[in-house]
Amino acid sequence: AQQYPDWIWQNGTIKPWQDATVHVMAHALHYGSSVFEGIRSYATPDGAAIFRLTDHLKRLYQSAKIYDMVLPYSQDELAAACREVVRKNGLSAAYLRPVAYRGLGGFGLSAETPIDVAVASWAMGPYLGPEALETGIEACVSSWQRFAPNTIPAGAKAGGNYLSGQLIAREARRLGFGEGIAMASTGLLSEGAGENLFLVFDGVLHTTPASASILTGITRDTLKTLAHEDGIEVVERDIPREYLYLCDELLMCGTAAEITPIRSVDGKQIGNGKAGRVTRRLQELFFGLFNGKTNDQWGWLEPL
Ligand code: PMP
Repeated sequence: AQQYPDWIWQNGTIKPWQDATVHVMAHALHYGSSVFEGIRSYATPDGAAIFRLTDHLKRLYQSAKIYDMVLPYSQDELAAACREVVRKNGLSAAYLRPVAYRGLGGFGLSAETPIDVAVASWAMGPYLGPEALETGIEACVSSWQRFAPNTIPAGAKAGGNYLSGQLIAREARRLGFGEGIAMASTGLLSEGAGENLFLVFDGVLHTTPASASILTGITRDTLKTLAHEDGIEVVERDIPREYLYLCDELLMCGTAAEITPIRSVDGKQIGNGKAGRVTRRLQELFFGLFNGKTNDQWGWLEPL
């Protein structure tokens, strides 16, 4: 059975996990009207640190803005809540989940409900399984496309968007794959169910643009920055599906997935079927931020 942490933050107070409840008529439950973040904290040689907390919270407020949700807490207050809930649960390496949602206060689609806010944290290992970071996963292209840009904004990390992610992820698992990759409504490559994609061609990293209905991930931004600093060229471009099969290396990245190599797509082997040179280098630089081997010149490690 699922093990839960002891404490959670909800609407300004830390409370026992089981007390953080939502009314069944809360707007968000019916209409997907929530915005959230997924953040990781790491145990570093200098103590526990929350990775890019400020950037994640900034995106939370941006997601809220798109849906006219005004959070009743400042970004500093939520940052303090994030730290508090990790500490109170006695965690150092953890996953954090701030969520703001339309609560009880009207049943119409455009109801001006109260905006409730919670922050949970729990211990979490590698999202796509313990071996995934080393040996990579087998992925498939989903029969489900991502939503078009003029239907639901992919740039908001909103609850309702994850109906798409569930279809993609569940189909992939049902067919025996580790994760699903979606095409955009344009017919070009989009992203994974909950991860951005990087392809390597001749040592150059290629990733899909915002116009491909992706969530522009903070891990994606981290890898772009680390690659640039390391002299690895990165290009954002439209990518047709077959490039997935033809690239030298392929990886998925996200807060939960971190940097996961993909060893095959639709049963076709990528490169030599192992994590390639560029992928390994990015993993070394990325995980180096947390073991002290990569100098955090960007101030991304925000002390707990
Ligand atoms: N795309 C989707 C759909 C996601 O859910 C996530 C995870 N938040 C990402 C990409 C990666 O974003 P990040 O690196 O900010 O976690």
